[in-house]
Amino acid sequence: MAVPAPSELVLRELATNAQGCAGERSGAMDDQPEPRSSVVMVPWVIDADGTWYRAQQAPKGGSLFCPVCLQPVVLKRGTQRVWHAAHAPGVRCLAPSSETYLHQLAKRMIARHIAEWRAGLRAPPIIRYRCAMCDRHGWQPLDPQIDRALIEYRLPDGSIADVALCAGDEPRLVVEVRVTHPVPAEKAARLAVPWIEVDGQVFSDGMPHYWDVLAGTVVSQSCDHCRSEIRDFYATARRIAQQWNLTLPKGPPYRYGITHCWKCQHTILVVAWPRQAFYPTVLPAKDPITRMLRYRYSHTAQCHYWANVCPHCHAMQGNWFLYDEPDGPFFPVMDDLVDPSMSDDSQERWQRDMRLIAHWWAKHLRSLQ
Ligand SMILES: [Zn+2]
Ligand SMILES: [Zn+2]
Ligand SMILES: [Zn+2]
Repeated sequence: MAVPAPSELVLRELATNAQGCAGERSGAMDDQPEPRSSVVMVPWVIDADGTWYRAQQAPKGGSLFCPVCLQPVVLKRGTQRVWHAAHAPGVRCLAPSSETYLHQLAKRMIARHIAEWRAGLRAPPIIRYRCAMCDRHGWQPLDPQIDRALIEYRLPDGSIADVALCAGDEPRLVVEVRVTHPVPAEKAARLAVPWIEVDGQVFSDGMPHYWDVLAGTVVSQSCDHCRSEIRDFYATARRIAQQWNLTLPKGPPYRYGITHCWKCQHTILVVAWPRQAFYPTVLPAKDPITRMLRYRYSHTAQCHYWANVCPHCHAMQGNWFLYDEPDGPFFPVMDDLVDPSMSDDSQERWQRDMRLIAHWWAKHLRSLQ
């Protein structure tokens, strides 16, 4: 019996998805011995209209194809083994091993999710990550302007994206599929487009609603919960600043934290900055916030240095307490701030320090005050 070929629709889909694929495919083939026949498991099959089925649930009778190579598959429905599908005799799949098959299948599953979402058949995937601060889940919706997914897409830097999610001709998000190896560091560094890496194994079971991110650039640094904690920190800091008619810095060099004065117990602001010495004798810049600093003699340190003082009772707030004690506001950034090799003081570094200070306050210090 003649086997009908996959429909025009399927072939068109393959053609649109074929950009740049030759390079990667031939690369993958070079690594592997030429297969005699395809022995890889086929967990999903498509019919001549391009409809996907789990191999166990595929309709009997019609022609079925491998979603990776679009060549015929046969259903194996015996009594000895779990029902499954396999490539028809003599068919050589373009994926020569289970690992490459899984990789190819995951890419197509991702593209299929995007296509079905755009066709109104399915909700968009949601990018899910672990918060860098607390290990809770954070979520990020997909860019709603994304209108298609292109497999093995050649990016402007010459590298090949496993899948590029594009808005028109513009790649907005690269999705890399991990099966055996993570995205190499040089590739990650070269990627000019936001990217995520997902676990290919998950996609062999079907289309997950959440895309759990293993690595990438688009994950936020903190989840909703941590962001709300950080907002509390800034609200508290603004309230104290207003009380003392201070303007809070929006960038380097001064970081600020919230603590309570050891002497009068008022909640106060304190500042820190990257510097050469643990007990600094110079100020990096004049700033409204430096009104909280005084050049004072410390009996603990046995020297003069620029120290934070309480605006209520003028007691010195020693650096030892502010940095070195776990209930000190600058404890999470101490190593970086007093590291003399950290000479750059970029806005990014300032923001990261402020995030750490705010999170530390919310998690450990707020309840003490
Ligand atoms: Zn195949
Ligand atoms: Zn969090
Ligand atoms: Zn005080």
